[in-house]
Amino acid sequence: MTEFFFTGKAIAMKVRWAQKIDSLSESMTVAISDRARELQQKGVPVVNLGSGDPDFDTPTHIVEAAGEAIKRGLTHYVASRGVPELRRAIAAKFQRDNRIAYDPDTEIIATAGGKLALYIALAAMVEPGDEILIFDPAWVSYEPMIRMLDGVPVDVPLRPDDNFMLDPDALRSRITPRTKAMIVNSPNNPTGRVLTQEELALVAEAAQDHGIWVLSDEIYEHIIYDQRQHISLAALPGMRDLTVTINGMSKAYAMTGWRLGYLAAPAPLCGQILKVQQHVVTCAPSFVQAAGVAALNGPQDCVAAMVAEYDRRRRFITEALNTLPGVHCPAPEGAFYLFPRVTYRGMDSNALARFMIEEAHVAVTPGAAFGRAGAQNIRLTFATSMENLRQAAELLRAAMS
Ligand code: PMP
Ligand code: GLU
Repeated sequence: MTEFFFTGKAIAMKVRWAQKIDSLSESMTVAISDRARELQQKGVPVVNLGSGDPDFDTPTHIVEAAGEAIKRGLTHYVASRGVPELRRAIAAKFQRDNRIAYDPDTEIIATAGGKLALYIALAAMVEPGDEILIFDPAWVSYEPMIRMLDGVPVDVPLRPDDNFMLDPDALRSRITPRTKAMIVNSPNNPTGRVLTQEELALVAEAAQDHGIWVLSDEIYEHIIYDQRQHISLAALPGMRDLTVTINGMSKAYAMTGWRLGYLAAPAPLCGQILKVQQHVVTCAPSFVQAAGVAALNGPQDCVAAMVAEYDRRRRFITEALNTLPGVHCPAPEGAFYLFPRVTYRGMDSNALARFMIEEAHVAVTPGAAFGRAGAQNIRLTFATSMENLRQAAELLRAAMS
């Protein structure tokens, strides 16, 4: 349905909204959490493992920096790229953590969340009919963003039987003269995979051989386990000028509600993206940027402490899930999601998610929301307390046995 009727001054008139938005589904990660909150408000004790939002408070020194900025009067518009202190802090972070040199004056934009960073980067790139490669499964918002910009999302199926490894043939076979960009996400939401050197090399080779932009979503960069190393795609030889790196404060610093993200891109492209930023949001919130400076320049032990706790939870919940009937759950290598394959009473992922929230009172996201490859999976987050995880495991066991 793309129209509805209303009665104007004298005649009944028909108004329309956009067909392309009508055909989008809601963000399933967001919708499931909304549903869980709704049930909780009605007094149903739902354990919400739906959307990935750290349960930790934002570290105090970050909160205080924002408070001080407000008191100082940093409550107006600021530079559209972001305040210079924040852009310098972001450039220093790229140098320190990723060994990439970016010019803070021309190659970095701070924006209102990683989501918006992705969207404005895509908006600066995508022309109608351009094909954008996304790996299947992938985070729920890539495909709708591409569609909203009249691009064509093209799935590159990962290998579900091989822990969602990248299949070089699948990647090569999806590249056409219309391929404009690909979106890569490591550590990955939903699979928890961290791309290996070999997989990153395949991406880099495809990008350079065919002149394809890479949007590298590295928002889970710091949430990584078992001494694995995060390698930034732009750090690979020849990739700096073909890559837009997307990152943000939400996950590493438990700052989801602050809405602060950033991107780094080669100067000419960054200038194009900046125009989109100026027209859609002007700038990221001013005093929140002061909090961002405190997060990036301040002590990083708060991040390490949160990651250590995620790791403890990861071990517990992976083991617990693997004891449930029909559940096969590989241990995630990064991020804070589990993406088990579930074979239970012939249910697909949508039926499973419905069963789990309605019968077990555990909110999970159906794997199908992340693409065809997730049709038999569910996604659970362990960015919640150990107590919630213990309770979820018990509730699932009781409902499934
Ligand atoms: N990319 C991925 C893969 C995510 O899971 C999220 C989580 N919301 C984002 C980007 C965007 O995060 P935010 O807008 O909160 O920075
Ligand atoms: N990125 C998180 C998730 O996948 C938060 C919700 C969202 O933005 O999609 O659960």
